Amino acid sequence: MNKQQVKRVLISTVIAISGGALAQDDVHWGYSGHQGPEHWGELAPEFSLCTSGKNQSPINISATTKGQLPTLALNYQASGNEIINNGHTIQVNYAPGSYLDIAGHQFELKQFHFHSPSENTLRGKSFPLEAHFVHADSKGNLAVVALMFEQGKENQELAKAWSQLPQEAGQKVRLATPISGLNMLPSKHDYYRFNGSLTTPPCSEGVRWIVLKNAVSASKQQISDFSSLMKLPNNRPVQGINARLIVE
Ligand SMILES: [Zn+2]
Repeated sequence: MNKQQVKRVLISTVIAISGGALAQDDVHWGYSGHQGPEHWGELAPEFSLCTSGKNQSPINISATTKGQLPTLALNYQASGNEIINNGHTIQVNYAPGSYLDIAGHQFELKQFHFHSPSENTLRGKSFPLEAHFVHADSKGNLAVVALMFEQGKENQELAKAWSQLPQEAGQKVRLATPISGLNMLPSKHDYYRFNGSLTTPPCSEGVRWIVLKNAVSASKQQISDFSSLMKLPNNRPVQGINARLIVE
C-alpha cells in the first residue's frame, strides 16, 4: 500500500465511523448506477471487501441458534446533540459518555443514523426505516445496535431531530433539544446477535451486530420526511450469511 492508499483507507475509515461527511472529497459512492452497491468493491482498492467479504451486512435474519444472550447493558445519556446530512444519511452525533457493555467490554456510543427502507430484514420482512447506533471500543472495534421502525404513531424522540433536519448535503446543525437514544428504543431489548460489517464502503468486517427484535413506531410523515430528503433508498441489499451463526 502506498502513502496515498494509506491516506485513503484512513479517510474511508473515518468516513465509515463518522458517517461519510468527507466522502464527497474522496471516493464517490452511492446507492444507484455505477456508484451503487453492486459496484462498491470496484470503486477503490480499499473497498474490495464490499465484493469479496464473507461476513457482510446487512442480512436477512431467518435461521437462528438459541443461545444464552446477556441482557443488553445500555448506559446512555440524553446527549445526541448535533445532526448532520452527509449526503448518504442523516446522522445524530453523540457527546462522549454513553456506553454499551458486551460481556464486560465497553463500547462508546458515537452516533446514530438512518436507512430507508431497512437494511436488515427479519424473516424476509423489510421495515420502512432502520436506525443504526454505532459504538466503538478504545481500540476502534465497532458494535452496532439496529432498531426497526414501523409506520404508526409519531415518534416523539425522532421528532426532536426531524424538526431540525438539515436539508442540504454537508449541512450540520446543533440540536436545540438533545436526543435520548434510550428513549428511542423499545422497552424490551431482546435481540439477535451476529458478526457483520459496515453497510457502507469500505464494508470493513469484525463489526458486532445487535438487531433489536421489537420495532418502534414512526409516522408516515416522519418516514417520508427522511426518504424524500435522501431522494433514493439508502439501503444496501442483504448479503450472504455464509458460515455465520445468528444467535437469539
Ligand atoms: Zn447504517
